[in-house]
Amino acid sequence: MAPYGVSAAPAGELICDFCAALEPVVYYEVTEFSLMAPGGEWLSGDRFYACPPCRRFIDSGDWRGCERGSAQPISGSRTA
Ligand SMILES: [Zn+2]
Repeated sequence: MAPYGVSAAPAGELICDFCAALEPVVYYEVTEFSLMAPGGEWLSGDRFYACPPCRRFIDSGDWRGCERGSAQPISGSRTA
């Protein structure tokens, strides 16, 4: 069985991977990983998108702030 993608975004749309806001403005490249769960394998994708508020948390290293709306340190970003 082919792996599933884990994004909650509707087909053809992007959402912030940290808070699910619409229209993320940047993405952070990550090494793709997979999770095995009942029903199959789930792939993370190779980039995590962020909205402006989440981007500020991530870029400033405010992981507690990001945790309130989510994540983990990731270095390097690209404009979405
Ligand atoms: Zn966000």
